[in-house]
Amino acid sequence: MKLGIVGLPNVGKSTLFNSLTKAGAESANYPFCTIDPNVGIVAVPDERLDKLTEMYNSAKTTPAVIEFVDIAGLVKGASKGEGLGNQFLANIREVDAIVHVVRCFEDTNVIHVDGSVDPIRDIETINLELIFSDIEVLDRRIAKTIRGARNDKMLAKELDFQQRIKAHLEDGKLAKTIEVADEDEQAWIEEYNLLTWKPVIFAANVGEEDIADDGASNENVQKVKEYAKDFDAEVFVVCAQIEQELAELDDEEKKMFLEDLGVKESGLDKLIKASYSLLGLISYLTAGETESRAWTIKKGTKAPGAAGKIHSDFERGFIKAEVVSYKDLMDCGSMLAAKEKGLVRQEGKEYVVEDGDVILFKFNV
Ligand code: GDP
Repeated sequence: MKLGIVGLPNVGKSTLFNSLTKAGAESANYPFCTIDPNVGIVAVPDERLDKLTEMYNSAKTTPAVIEFVDIAGLVKGASKGEGLGNQFLANIREVDAIVHVVRCFEDTNVIHVDGSVDPIRDIETINLELIFSDIEVLDRRIAKTIRGARNDKMLAKELDFQQRIKAHLEDGKLAKTIEVADEDEQAWIEEYNLLTWKPVIFAANVGEEDIADDGASNENVQKVKEYAKDFDAEVFVVCAQIEQELAELDDEEKKMFLEDLGVKESGLDKLIKASYSLLGLISYLTAGETESRAWTIKKGTKAPGAAGKIHSDFERGFIKAEVVSYKDLMDCGSMLAAKEKGLVRQEGKEYVVEDGDVILFKFNV
């Protein structure tokens, strides 16, 4: 799962990206933490995993991870090739969701590319580039579809849909706000992989003084929240500069610093968790002396599919899953006690795995 960080220059993308990967590096202990300077693997914070590690005295703890990509260089005119624009747009096409960083902090030392802090104008500048790029994609699609549409009803229907999306985009609207009429259209729009169809989280980058009340008294943040309502997008308030400082600290120091700031959780932790649920992802857990680990699956995945995340043999030879919910396990204090209380279930192939299930798979090799 991959998330792309976008936004105008100088809004705090790199600062945020660096703190994400730095924080991830320390908690996840991932050797491939920076695959390349713009891609980072980040651990999904999960208290349950820490508790399991304690209960089992596990030698190793492996969290679920998300990949973040810092997509710099999106500027006005990017879709026309300004500043390597097209290359950056191609990078966005590869991600599953977008974190759109918006500058809401005032700081005369940090130049704004358009001369003033105006988050809605900034968002629309970026959106417009994404829309232009999507129109180009549709133009190419339409040119192809049109050839076959005269003799093929299905292609004619698709052509009609493509032209409808194009008109919608030309109105300055995002693909995600179009009404999808039926399953065919749903499948098509998924296939087109349009930039403005991807899920978005706005990260409102505020100054230090605005974190304690979560941006409530920052006018710019309020504007972004109002704006985001129309797309069902979540808005997160972060202070990239503070996150960068937090990323340098160990857990204990971090806790104290957060207390001083008057917040419970770092903005980054909230952002990572939100990204995870935005993508419709959940975690199931495995626990043992060797390793306690969180595994990422899509909501709705059945037991064999979940087993396949560990190893394809587990999926092929799946017999059953021994499942206990994290809460039941903790309430009982041990797996043995949970078994004695009858809280460990034997589940078969049709079982839909839930977030926080602690699972032991039985399989044939
Ligand atoms: P990018 O071009 O979007 O990647 O922006 P950078 O992360 O490089 O940040 C641009 C400048 O803004 C740098 O000088 C940062 O130190 C500064 N900056 C980033 N976040 C904040 C913040 O929350 N508050 C303040 N005052 N400055 C910030």
